Amino acid sequence: MTLARRAFLRTAGGAFLAAGALKASPAFCAPAARHLKFENLHTGESLALDYWSDGAYHPQALAEINKVLRDYRTGEVHAIEPGLLDLLHDMNARLETVAPYQVISGYRSPRTNAALHEHSNGVASKSLHMQGMAIDIRVPGRQLAAVHDTALSLGRGGVGFYPSSDFVHVDVGRVRKWNGV
Ligand SMILES: [Zn+2]
Repeated sequence: MTLARRAFLRTAGGAFLAAGALKASPAFCAPAARHLKFENLHTGESLALDYWSDGAYHPQALAEINKVLRDYRTGEVHAIEPGLLDLLHDMNARLETVAPYQVISGYRSPRTNAALHEHSNGVASKSLHMQGMAIDIRVPGRQLAAVHDTALSLGRGGVGFYPSSDFVHVDVGRVRKWNGV
């Protein structure tokens, strides 16, 4: 065997090994599961679960999330838009945190929303909270401004900044932004 031939074999073998290593490395695979954690500040309930894996949302996990994000004033449960969960999942990744989302407001029934709207200019009468498409959150260990910037950077819906109330509103409606109090 010539030297050149040996060099070729070595290279080919090396390339083969590299390809094998690439395939096995989790860094090069799409995440197999999507995980979320919530802590509802009104009810004290918390939840940590995989809500998606292998290309499908888990109905049981979605049902548990819907319950924790229910209208705590009336007890009404409404489906939360899975796209909102994906938005939260992607925010976690960008914020490089696994801390639970602290939830100030998830689903709001029309009755609750109307009552809040009456007492606050900051509550829209046609709020996306009533469709399970919006959530008000803060993230322990991360500055509110960082959470705000991250939500804006994803550009996937509405983002409201409420520094005095210490939360960020995110939704999966039209892309827009505003400042509250
Ligand atoms: Zn909100």
